[in-house]
Amino acid sequence: MAASSQSQQALTPQVRRQLESHLRARQRELELGMSRTVELGLKSAPDGTLDVGDQAVFSYTKEMLFTQGTHHHAQLSQVIAALHRMAEGRYGVCMHCEATIGVKRMEAVPWTSSCIDCQERIEKGEMEAKLRVA
Ligand SMILES: [Zn+2]
Repeated sequence: MAASSQSQQALTPQVRRQLESHLRARQRELELGMSRTVELGLKSAPDGTLDVGDQAVFSYTKEMLFTQGTHHHAQLSQVIAALHRMAEGRYGVCMHCEATIGVKRMEAVPWTSSCIDCQERIEKGEMEAKLRVA
């Protein structure tokens, strides 16, 4: 009785559940982070008397908070999209070439939607990502 070896290990229901709770935790974290960013943005609003130096700091802070918020938002939509794919039973499958994404990659980047080959092609500009990230 020879055990058949799998080249690409598929997600087991157990691992999938782990990744799902991981994704949900990340979703909460990002949502909290975003509301905190908005709060910080409001708190750092000038109360009228700012010299040129303060103004520079203020606009820098605003820009930084905006960048951070945008980054959070981009990742949050990736996390939500991953949870959607999970609900549809398409989680762990590359949305570009339909290949099974390796478990190791899913554990490292639970919200990924492309296999390592497609990801490399997207990064090299040889292919366009279906899910655009700002
Ligand atoms: Zn692929």
